[in-house]
Amino acid sequence: MAEKTDIKSLTVEELEICLKEQGIQGFRSKQIFQWLHQKLADSFEDMTNLSKDLRRQLEEDYGLTALRTVDVKVSSVDGTRKYLFELDDGHVIESVLMKYRHGNSVCISSQVGCRMGCRFCASTLGGLERNLKPSEMLSQVYRIQKDLGERVSHVVVMGTGEPLDNYDNLVRFIRLLTDERGLNLSQRNITVSTCGIVPGIERLGNEGLSVTLALSLHAPNDQVRRTLMPVAYKYSLDEVLSACRLYFQKTGRRLTFEYSLVKGVNDSLEEARALAALIKDQHGHVNLIPVNPIKERDYVQSDSRSITAFKECLERMGINVTVRREMGRDIGGACGQLRKSYMDRNTGGMIHGSIRTD
Ligand code: SAH
Repeated sequence: MAEKTDIKSLTVEELEICLKEQGIQGFRSKQIFQWLHQKLADSFEDMTNLSKDLRRQLEEDYGLTALRTVDVKVSSVDGTRKYLFELDDGHVIESVLMKYRHGNSVCISSQVGCRMGCRFCASTLGGLERNLKPSEMLSQVYRIQKDLGERVSHVVVMGTGEPLDNYDNLVRFIRLLTDERGLNLSQRNITVSTCGIVPGIERLGNEGLSVTLALSLHAPNDQVRRTLMPVAYKYSLDEVLSACRLYFQKTGRRLTFEYSLVKGVNDSLEEARALAALIKDQHGHVNLIPVNPIKERDYVQSDSRSITAFKECLERMGINVTVRREMGRDIGGACGQLRKSYMDRNTGGMIHGSIRTD
């Protein structure tokens, strides 16, 4: 049997066409879209201003993505919430809510697993299982907003997965999330983080969107970058940074350069100076992330003295820098580690797929 149409991934216009083909009045599309993307309904049953017959018909013809909450941990320190959600096919994904002064920010996953192979990252250890559908990305935000009872104002696509490796679904997700007939998030409040897939960055720059791009840099030269990120063999820093320049020209959005500090690997003052020189003509700032060690690798977090020295060196050279604050310290598990430990517990340590070694 063919898979049912995924109704939460459709635009209002597409939904209207589908409904008309079934002989259902076009105006219903707006009502249904509002139920899905504004009132955040989890079932057709909830759509009480539709007739019982129509609800039954929709139930038969469409699939409605709803996530099952497997686990949620709430930090008593800063209110951070870490969620594990189960998808319809049994896969498990991770999302995080962070409470800031400027609003509620949700970090979502874009894929089940990841095939980019970054050495320090837990999300890639089992390889890529599959892409997430737009509805599955949206549902992470919707479920958390409902659970919290407060508006989610910011979304960062920085959870498991490489968003530009799931390009079409990512862009559809952004358009649906920012639709004024839906949750109506501001595009400026969405950040997409990439390991540096050049054609994807160029395409996103030409999409007519105004989302923020974060580039995972992690090294000031190709040599060190290649030891941390296999993708650096495919695209040189030169190419990646040209694409970033283009992104700023096209969108006017300043970039974020993410730099995870790993002791003895990329945290020397010489590397700080090289980093400053590398990005001095870019419009953006550096976000330093003390690396979260994962047990499968022996990378160690830089000590706080080195982090401060690295930061001050960049600042002296005229670069704007922030150091990422660790959120939810008391509930453990960062950067895909919650999902990973869940998988280890529930599959006896077996995870499928392989680590890329190229
Ligand atoms: N694939 C995307 C987004 C997911 S990761 C990307 O590569 O940007 C989000 C950020 O967290 C990236 O900068 C990533 O390199 C970083 N990251 C992953 N694991 C980490 C860890 N253990 N410690 C510190 N940063 C990590």
